[in-house]
Amino acid sequence: MLGQMMTQPLLISSLINHADRYHGQTEIFSVETDGTVTETSWGQVAKNARKLASALTKLGLEPQARIGTLAWNNRRHLEIYYGTSGAGFVCHTVNPRLFPEQLTYIINHAQDRVLFFDATFIPLVAALQEHLPDVQHFVLMGPRNEEVIAQIPGVKFYDEFIETGDAGFLWPSFDENTASSLCYTSGTTGHPKGVLYSHRSTVLHSFGSNTRDVIGFSAMDVVMPVVPMFHVNAWGSPYACAMSGSRMVLPGPGLHGEALVNLIDTYGVTLAMGVPTIWQGLLAHAEQSGSKLASLQRTVIGGAACPPSMIEIFREAFGVDTIHAWGMSEMSPLGTANHPLAKHRDLPLEEQHKLRESQGRPCYGVELKIVDDDGNDLPHDGETQGDLLVRGYWVLDSYFQMQDENLLQDGWFATGDVATLDADGYMTIRDRSKDIIKSGGEWISSVELENIAVAHPKLATAAVVGVPHPKWDERPLLVAVKAEGENPTEEELLSFYDGKIAKWQVPDKVVFVEALPLNATGKIMKRKLRADFENTLNG
Ligand code: AMP
Repeated sequence: MLGQMMTQPLLISSLINHADRYHGQTEIFSVETDGTVTETSWGQVAKNARKLASALTKLGLEPQARIGTLAWNNRRHLEIYYGTSGAGFVCHTVNPRLFPEQLTYIINHAQDRVLFFDATFIPLVAALQEHLPDVQHFVLMGPRNEEVIAQIPGVKFYDEFIETGDAGFLWPSFDENTASSLCYTSGTTGHPKGVLYSHRSTVLHSFGSNTRDVIGFSAMDVVMPVVPMFHVNAWGSPYACAMSGSRMVLPGPGLHGEALVNLIDTYGVTLAMGVPTIWQGLLAHAEQSGSKLASLQRTVIGGAACPPSMIEIFREAFGVDTIHAWGMSEMSPLGTANHPLAKHRDLPLEEQHKLRESQGRPCYGVELKIVDDDGNDLPHDGETQGDLLVRGYWVLDSYFQMQDENLLQDGWFATGDVATLDADGYMTIRDRSKDIIKSGGEWISSVELENIAVAHPKLATAAVVGVPHPKWDERPLLVAVKAEGENPTEEELLSFYDGKIAKWQVPDKVVFVEALPLNATGKIMKRKLRADFENTLNG
């Protein structure tokens, strides 16, 4: 043998061990379900995670038993992330915003053995309990509460439960390809599907997100993941922040603008992450209250297209750099992040800003390509759009307990997004393939039309969907929510498109609604809008 490097498995327990040893004092601020804030630290989280791991192991669960959570972003949830996976169980984060029937399906499909839940979800769990035959232990994430015992027979209490475990618990070693966590996709059609992450994919994803031109968390950062820990592991931030020893602010249940602005200002948040709809509320409150969001340096915005107007407001009004990122549950989720290249440094400022609008370039560890309907590669010229395919270290190979030989195309996963790629690798998402508007054989990007509409000062938010049209098959319809106190006309909104896009792409009509329907992960339910307004242009 010529010589060799050590082979240590890439395990999630190594992340919490590192945070414990080198960042043990680093603070974590956690908003509890009652709105109070608890201060803890990576050292304390690590200790409780070991106790929890020990307590769970004593229950005699089978290896890789699924352990469900119905919980907000808070310190106990963070302890559960590490205590479950670290001990060889699978942390199954369940999205509590789903309908009860979907929750029952998901928890039963995953065969969760234990279900941890926040106090908010006591009534929900009480109603679901009899429909969840595989769950052997229901654990309320908090101290003892006598009232809950009557509602949920046999309930355990987290703070007591972890005391049955041993703080000296030693993390076991096992194959890095072992499953570590499970998250079901929101699934707009059919049943939700489970994406099963592994220790290896999770640790590699943390390395990937921790590179400077992706997110690059730092021990100097105070990180606030507003993206929920029940949706793709809060974009992996609980793992990546342990790796970098960042302080964290876990915002709990209150995700409205005022609460978020207060948390940023009180705890000096430097880096916040979330979907665009969340930041609309935050920006509105910051403007109203006069907060300058002084500590905030960076926002990572993804999950849906971030309108250029939002990037501009963050930059011009608050001096905040927005990293527009794209990914999906099937990708753990990080796929791309938008940062400039050295050659862009001397471009006129306006051009530099323009370059920051797209979803950005692939992280190391992820490859992208676009193909036509027959699977042929399409050019990376920034113009040709096609179906976006991905492969990489943290991309799904098969869904949880679903055999589908045809899922991958020659080893690539079809994202369902339609995109362009340019020669430097910058990707622009044009649409979900099912949302793109097909007008007389031409494609219109609903994202592009929405980005323009939401920049109109008299609109709070807007969506564009394709609806049936007698001549053109489909035409764009603008569904708009007026800004408070404003009363824009249809004409005014449509003329706002003049000079920004080709005339034939301008929506045919505007309908005003009080609010847009959002799904459980905060994304606009375009399928519902299409159904609601199906006959608008057909008459
Ligand atoms: P999910 O798995 O629920 O996180 O949804 C993933 C999907 O969200 C992607 O396939 C995209 O369609 C969409 N998405 C995520 N990030 C972005 C983004 N920055 N711009 C446009 N669409 C996005």
